[in-house]
Amino acid sequence: RYILGIETSCDETAAAVIKNGRTILSNIVASQIDSHKRFGGVVPEIASRHHVEQITVVVEEALQKANMTFQDLTAIAVTEGPGLVGALLIGINAAKALAFAHNLPIIGVHHIAGHIYANQLVHELSFPLIALVVSGGHTELVYMKEHGSFEVIGETLDDAAGEAYDKVARTLNLPYPGGPHIDRLAHEGMASIDLPRAWLEERSYNFSFSGLKSAVINTLHNASQRGETIDPKNLAASFQASVVDVLVTKTLRAAEEYKVKQVLLAGGVAANKGLRSALENALIDKQGIELMIPPLSLCTDNAAMIAAAGDVLYQKGIFGDLKMNAHPGLPLTSYL
Ligand code: ATP
Ligand code: MG
Ligand code: FE
Repeated sequence: RYILGIETSCDETAAAVIKNGRTILSNIVASQIDSHKRFGGVVPEIASRHHVEQITVVVEEALQKANMTFQDLTAIAVTEGPGLVGALLIGINAAKALAFAHNLPIIGVHHIAGHIYANQLVHELSFPLIALVVSGGHTELVYMKEHGSFEVIGETLDDAAGEAYDKVARTLNLPYPGGPHIDRLAHEGMASIDLPRAWLEERSYNFSFSGLKSAVINTLHNASQRGETIDPKNLAASFQASVVDVLVTKTLRAAEEYKVKQVLLAGGVAANKGLRSALENALIDKQGIELMIPPLSLCTDNAAMIAAAGDVLYQKGIFGDLKMNAHPGLPLTSYL
């Protein structure tokens, strides 16, 4: 099976060809970060316009790199949500046109299922598992008892982890997207500033990061009122320590309660060095729990992960059709 994946949910135009759900033959990502940087975030209209300009080129490049034509493909998988409606529609319409022209089945993929299945491009999944999804728009603990089965056992009540990183970065005058910059500063600083950790109710797997974000802003504000300066490195380190502490503690508790075989890390914030090493350390002496972390290039948005998740649906015989539409708020539900 050769699946062409297409991803346009936010600010990367991406296409990839995957063999048998596991092997990357090509993985092309055209990032728009430079166009959005000066606005400090993604501007939906600009994103759509870039997708229109890039989609054909990116798809052609993915086929070329894989040394294939449309005749060699088995199916086309495309992100149908969640994401920016105008951005999603560009990918969906391209997928529909190509599927129709070349008489190929079309598969609609949930973007977060894609982030989770990025792990399958590295290593086989074993169930049951817990996936910690940390991205620009999501912070979720997802329980999977088999392929295509997703149960969200915890989620953020306010900001997503990546969103908190980007907002804190903005208050420190760091460029967008701020996550990697905070990560870098954090490693040069000391977690010497006391910041809150939102544990929420006793057994809760939910998250909340807006209080932490406000605490960072207040710390900066109060210091400047007193005419003091705060070392941004220490503030970044303290913020990161708080985020990582809550994420790792809840993930570990879920892994034990649900008696999982694997813990998966997924989403753009999975690129975070502090989070990766803290999870590794936390699981080091947990016998029988395997930790899976995708390489950096598969953590942020790409189409290889969409094709990998699409392959699972293909094998289950779950297809879309030419009436497929964009679903900006699509919930992550099981495909079973
Ligand atoms: P979603 O997947 O929820 O729809 P998205 O696709 O916009 O959102 P991703 O591309 O998965 O998000 O991830 C982007 C986010 O990851 C940004 O918020 C970015 O700051 C963050 N990020 C990337 N690298 C790091 C890092 N090293 N440390 C912390 N955050 C990071
Ligand atoms: Mg992005
Ligand atoms: Fe994403």
